[in-house]
Amino acid sequence: MRAVYLLFSFLFGSAVGSFLNVVAWRVPRGESIVRPSSRCTSCGTAIKWHDNIPVVSWFFLRGRCRSCGGSFSFRYALVELVTGLLFLGLFLRFGPSWLWLKHSVFISLLICTILTDIDHWIILDSVSIGGIAAGLLFTLAPGTGDLLPHLITAAAAFLVFFLIRTVAGILLRGKPGYTIAPEGHEDESRDFQGGMGWGDIKLAGMIGAFLGPSLTAVALFLSFLTGALTGIAVIIAGRNRRIPLPFGPFLALGSVLAVFAGQAIWELYLRLGLSV
Ligand SMILES: [Zn+2]
Repeated sequence: MRAVYLLFSFLFGSAVGSFLNVVAWRVPRGESIVRPSSRCTSCGTAIKWHDNIPVVSWFFLRGRCRSCGGSFSFRYALVELVTGLLFLGLFLRFGPSWLWLKHSVFISLLICTILTDIDHWIILDSVSIGGIAAGLLFTLAPGTGDLLPHLITAAAAFLVFFLIRTVAGILLRGKPGYTIAPEGHEDESRDFQGGMGWGDIKLAGMIGAFLGPSLTAVALFLSFLTGALTGIAVIIAGRNRRIPLPFGPFLALGSVLAVFAGQAIWELYLRLGLSV
């Protein structure tokens, strides 16, 4: 029976991943997520349901459109696969519970964040602000934490990131690191003052709302750690050429790690802290 639940978790997750692919493609372009049905981006032919099965169809069609042979990025299948595996992992970790449902919603919003931030350097307000509301609402369900600490954490995370942006903006004013806007987004560079956009600030609030105090601390720590390590790696690989990176994907990555291992990391931190 357990195997059936696990299989269902994976299939459900991969279907959610398929939907997130659609959201991340359409919403930043101002298109409806309901209509029209999925279409080939090269020839516009509607994709039949049996060619639109998460993960499987991409491999079956070898990543090509049945009508025009135009290629579909492997990223679609990868997002479906990873979302499926994460949902399976969530079921293993939390079982059927409100906590499982909460983290499934949270991780779906984080995956959408990664996709839109990589493609367009934006984090949708419907994801971040909607996520703050959803995260706080979930505290009303049993076993998912209390409203007040989550509310305070959301406000604190939002404020900390706003302060980082303000201080970095003042320190870096007039210097090359003042803005990190990517090519083609120079006109929006004011939005990335001190290397941090408004999207990141709202996202930090959402992480606080979903995770509460200790797990948010772990999530933000892991985000800065992975962001810094990747930044260093990019600088080394790019021979010091400045390659701007959006920060949202690192916040999302740190948060996913915190969902699965945050409690253990937090307890380890407390033990180390007490033994010093
Ligand atoms: Zn086509």
